[in-house]
Amino acid sequence: MNALEPQSMSLPSEVDVAIIGAGAAGLGAARTLENSGLSVIVLEARDRVGGRGHTMMAAPDIVFDVGCGWLHSANENSFVKIAEQLNFEIDKTRPPWRERGFDAVFPPDERADFIAALDAFYDRAEEAAKTGRDSAANLYLEPGNRWNPMIDAISTYVNGSELDRVSISDMAAYQDTGINWRIRRGYGALMAAYGAPCPVTLNTQVTLIDHSGMRVRLKTSRGTLAAGKVIVTVPTNLIADEAIRFHPALPSKVDAARGLPLGLANKVTLALEDPDALPKDGNLRGATMRTAMGAFHLRPFGQACIEGFFGGRFAQALEDAGEGALAAQAIDETVAMLGSDFRRRLKPLAESRWAHDPFARGSYSHALPGQAGQRAVLAAPVECRLFFAGEATSPNSFSTAHGARDSGERAAREILRKPIAAAATSSPSTSSGTEHSSSFPKIR
Ligand SMILES: Cc1cc2nc3c(=O)[nH]c(=O)nc-3n(C[C@H](O)[C@H](O)[C@H](O)COP(=O)(O)OP(=O)(O)OC[C@H]3O[C@@H](n4cnc5c(N)ncnc54)[C@H](O)[C@@H]3O)c2cc1C
Repeated sequence: MNALEPQSMSLPSEVDVAIIGAGAAGLGAARTLENSGLSVIVLEARDRVGGRGHTMMAAPDIVFDVGCGWLHSANENSFVKIAEQLNFEIDKTRPPWRERGFDAVFPPDERADFIAALDAFYDRAEEAAKTGRDSAANLYLEPGNRWNPMIDAISTYVNGSELDRVSISDMAAYQDTGINWRIRRGYGALMAAYGAPCPVTLNTQVTLIDHSGMRVRLKTSRGTLAAGKVIVTVPTNLIADEAIRFHPALPSKVDAARGLPLGLANKVTLALEDPDALPKDGNLRGATMRTAMGAFHLRPFGQACIEGFFGGRFAQALEDAGEGALAAQAIDETVAMLGSDFRRRLKPLAESRWAHDPFARGSYSHALPGQAGQRAVLAAPVECRLFFAGEATSPNSFSTAHGARDSGERAAREILRKPIAAAATSSPSTSSGTEHSSSFPKIR
């Protein structure tokens, strides 16, 4: 624990507002309620804040964001201003995906052909979404196109899932300005610093939200707490699996969460000996015509390492195979592209295991075909006492850290519009509906 992270408090018995989860959404809610005059506590199951935002030093000079790393839509991203205020250096180097490939393994004309096929796919899916009839995104692949497996691989990075489980309406709702920056000291480190002033109790897992009485009673691993209002920010898979339960039951929330599962994306970082031969912030991706493959970021920030990114069913299989399987696969793939000499130059440093993480159970949400409307259902307050935030509740920036933070702010503002005393008598309100835009996803 240091001054740039919140200090853990003891569990109070009564508060005005309890926030469940100290990820970007929970911290965004807590910071918005600062100086509101309300007593607030953030209940966090882990021994740290940040949730799916987590920076580690993989080696003394290698910063590794185990979860989120990119400030997507950076020119509109609320974490950019926060980074500036907290003196976190922002790196504006262009991302290594799309055009910035490593020519030796993906020749420019092949890459251009692939990108044209990818863009044509997005155009077809976007046109189809405009009809208002939702369907699975894989239906918009051009039959027989040689790039289809690779387009599906991109979906495993962007959605954490193959296209057959992704809703086109949800894809179309996602807004992306195409500007992507990074935090030199790590996105997770920024989140922890942003959360430093928040009242947090760590190692406090909430298991039951009992809203049957006048005050909401929360059963936690460290005792029971009564709250006037509660903001729930836990990932959808925990609501769907009923790892956290409501009494009386809220079947519409469980159904909404099941329609918005977390896909899987995992990262690995490999130490690289003699790094100078490879370009800084380069991309390594072969024209392999497979969906089951990684995407590689060469020397992020110029560091002596290669970062691998795997998604979807392949990432799940590698994670299920046990610790080290992701790194071994990443080394095999990079050696196949760069040459056998690299086998002795690469050494595993760290890898994520988000599917086996009990407090995430996946990486980021996507809507199943036909389920895009569930984001608004999940976001809607219940009886003006239970409020919902988290990346999955964001209408246009779901799956991102800034979307999560902004949703926390939105939930806190919903509370501030209604005084605590009015909670028991006021009627339920609904959240605003899902907005649709014409922009299409980030490409990792
Ligand atoms: C590998 C990977 C790469 C990513 N890349 C990017 C990227 O480049 N850019 C980007 O913007 N986003 C990215 N994301 C997504 C981004 O990290 C998430 O969307 C965002 O951090 C989610 O924030 P949240 O507050 O909604 O949820 P979380 O961060 O999951 O926070 C929820 C919190 O609730 C806690 N919790 C769970 N259950 C309980 C319980 N029962 N009681 C108490 N606490 C509980 C959890 O421990 C957690 O701290 C990535 C994610 C992953 C995994």
